Amino acid sequence: MPPPVRIVALGGLGEIGMNCMAVEAEGRIAVVDCGVMFPNESIGVDVIVPDLTWLVERKEQVGAIYVTHGHEDHIGALPQLLRRVKAPVYVAPFARALLEARLREAGIAADLRTVRPGEVRGAGADSPISAEFIAVTHSIPDACALAISTPQGVLLHSGDFKIDEAPVGGWKMDLARIGALGRAGVRLLLSDSTNSERPGTSLSESAVGVALDQAFENAQGRIFAACFASNVHRIQQVADAARGLGRRLALLGRSMESNVRLAMELGYLKLAGWQLCSLEEARRLPPRELCVLTTGTQGEPRSALARLARGEHPELSLSPGDLVVLSSRFIPGNEVAIGQVVNELTRLGAEVAYEDLRPLHVSGHAHEAEQRRLIALARPEHFVPVHGEFRQLARHAAHAAKEGVAHRHLIVDGEVLELSDAGARVLEERLPVGRVYAERDASGAEIGELVVKDRRLLAESGLCIVVVAVDRASGAVVRGPEIFARGVAGFEGCEDALRGEALRALDELSGPARENQGEVQEALRLAVRRWFRRVGGRKPSVLPVVLEL
Ligand SMILES: [Zn+2]
Ligand SMILES: [Zn+2]
Repeated sequence: MPPPVRIVALGGLGEIGMNCMAVEAEGRIAVVDCGVMFPNESIGVDVIVPDLTWLVERKEQVGAIYVTHGHEDHIGALPQLLRRVKAPVYVAPFARALLEARLREAGIAADLRTVRPGEVRGAGADSPISAEFIAVTHSIPDACALAISTPQGVLLHSGDFKIDEAPVGGWKMDLARIGALGRAGVRLLLSDSTNSERPGTSLSESAVGVALDQAFENAQGRIFAACFASNVHRIQQVADAARGLGRRLALLGRSMESNVRLAMELGYLKLAGWQLCSLEEARRLPPRELCVLTTGTQGEPRSALARLARGEHPELSLSPGDLVVLSSRFIPGNEVAIGQVVNELTRLGAEVAYEDLRPLHVSGHAHEAEQRRLIALARPEHFVPVHGEFRQLARHAAHAAKEGVAHRHLIVDGEVLELSDAGARVLEERLPVGRVYAERDASGAEIGELVVKDRRLLAESGLCIVVVAVDRASGAVVRGPEIFARGVAGFEGCEDALRGEALRALDELSGPARENQGEVQEALRLAVRRWFRRVGGRKPSVLPVVLEL
């Protein structure tokens, strides 16, 4: 009887971002993707990575890391993983190039092995797991699905995909191969749920080219086009539209510059020899001869576009009559920041065009009809929706039901689905999962949950510091209390009242309590908080400091 296989959800199921999954059979493990998500609050945190404890505790068993594609939500946390788990990473060329850059920044050496569609890679010498890479279409070159062979049959992982019949460059989705796998028998399909709530079929990437042509055609001033720096096909279309009008192309933003260079080196991006220009040249060109590709589609405050909007970009500035095209989706959670940037651009006299007017952007993820087409082709025995918030997973499972898939399993991060000859079941055990806040520098340092909590508290209501000096022997107050505050509303002018409150609290302490530093600190903390409660202000964090002299 073949041994059971476990599918371990470590990230991306029940939330958007930080996708990470493990497949375990006979004590051997293969990992699929390990991505980040970005915080949408200002807490001084670069990225959020999945809790990798489960994998780190089993690092000897991990025989392979398979990467579906190079988006941050799939590769961004690999530096964190590879720092602690040494296993070969199987990855297609473009994702590899992006990953290499990430690892270089983090100062990590890793065993990266290039894979192309149609190739099969085992997950270690003694592992019963292997994966075949299959071409899919998505908003980045070299995206792959994985057909993972296990003792319990083939698990087909869609990766991120759409079924684009007219992709711009790159490969087409290998529907024939998926159909063949379906006929041979797919035990379990895990599929991208991002757009399960969108009916019909997503527009082809090539539709964007037409919309860009129309938008660019009547532009009198300079054109600024913003898109994701990894969306090479989109960059190609912006470049083509600009070329048709004789406009040269300048690049703004570090990731835009590095990705364009990478994509050109690898042959994914083809620009006319005359077209690229430096920012210095760009400043001298007549407005109608320039198109600028920029980052910052999500309103990120430090991005090139946001700095342009604030008039703070050191290299270029916007003029009335310039056209700004946002060729991207407004990712939920970022609407306010993006709206702010659009307001500022408009105030500077620029015309801002985005998705709602014409298809200046199309999604890289399958809509319902495409999701169902994949299910129909793969004909899986079991179905697990992945890559989405819970409502998107649930909707996707409903689509699978309509396609006649009898066994559908809604699992979220921390849950384990076990496939055995008896069928599939969700195990009782819950794994340690969650969000880990991290820096994106060479240290890769993790920022503790408590630190983040403190930062939120400080942002909410500020910090009040109470300093008092006491006599070591008697416990009598010899100086203070002095009270300092940062970001505390209602503090100004109330220092004396607060000091009085703190002194009274100290007076009320009994002799023995006064000799106990911890009790003195607690009394001060409570006194200050009590005072703020009484005056109706927000209670700040209170940091009592007792100096013994
Ligand atoms: Zn993704
Ligand atoms: Zn993606």
